[in-house]
Amino acid sequence: MTEPLVEIRGVSKRFTKRLDVAGKIAQRLGANIREETVHAVDNVNLSIQKGEVLGLVGESGCGKSTLGRVVAGIHAASDGQMFYEGKDVATLSGSDKRAATLAIQMIFQDPFASLNPRMRVEDIIGEAPRMHGSVSKAESADYVDDVMRKVGLDPSLKRRYAHQFSGGQRQRIVIARALAVKPKFLVCDEAIAALDVSIQAQVINLFMDLREELGLTYLFISHDLSVVEHIADRVAIMYLGRIVESASTEEIFSDPRHPYTKALLAEAPRLDQRRREFAPIDGEIPSPLDPPSGCTFHPRCPVATAECRTTVPELKAGRGGRETACLLEHAETV
Ligand code: SF4
Repeated sequence: MTEPLVEIRGVSKRFTKRLDVAGKIAQRLGANIREETVHAVDNVNLSIQKGEVLGLVGESGCGKSTLGRVVAGIHAASDGQMFYEGKDVATLSGSDKRAATLAIQMIFQDPFASLNPRMRVEDIIGEAPRMHGSVSKAESADYVDDVMRKVGLDPSLKRRYAHQFSGGQRQRIVIARALAVKPKFLVCDEAIAALDVSIQAQVINLFMDLREELGLTYLFISHDLSVVEHIADRVAIMYLGRIVESASTEEIFSDPRHPYTKALLAEAPRLDQRRREFAPIDGEIPSPLDPPSGCTFHPRCPVATAECRTTVPELKAGRGGRETACLLEHAETV
């Protein structure tokens, strides 16, 4: 196995809700009020090879977007390390740091919210490469045209504003803005979820074409299992801040091992045979402010034992080398 393009080791992200003035006064007067800490991401290890698409899947609120933001450098990790091309990102400085920062770009769900409504498309796309000195002012117009063509946008529209484009075109503008700084790794956070189904397929095809053409690597975050099955080489399943299973896409979809993965993949009866539908899991995802003891999935797990309430399962290789965080799975390997 070659060196991963991106690797994170032991990464956690906590958010603490500080007490406001009223809370502090109430605390001084003896009220039982404390600062609350959310463990959004808890001790996650991931590695992504060059050219690979890793799908990151889980229900809303499981921490996958926070993990994506940590990987993209938008949130600082509370603990752990991140490596880019084998180098610890925290130890980089100067041009090495800038190169690593530009190499990892993030694409968000809502293309409208992430585009400045007062900027013309040519500036949205051309600003960052000009600012970082990779393109001169004189070259900028041609460069913007090239990038627009690459994402399937007509360069003659570059003087328009984002609101003058459709949802699918706006997402192409967002992708063009990311590509303009020549990234090697894209973190896509529900990047097609806000688009019409017919447009989703076009944007997925664009991502795959860019992978071929530019050798891009992706962390593809989605709650849509059909999309992940189609696009990813490997899948990591996340539950309440932790990875509970990780395997090739084929293994995950044909032979899921963790009870949470099995529940996620339980198919719902469907009217439209062209698209797989997955049934919602019984029970709600618990609050990360007060996670259950032991295996955090135990209140919803149909095969939980007494031990599951007290022992935290590690993510480790079990039967056939498959990685799961499940005590039952680990017991079957002994
Ligand atoms: Fe279910 Fe126990 Fe495995 Fe958790 S450790 S998934 S509760 S069987």
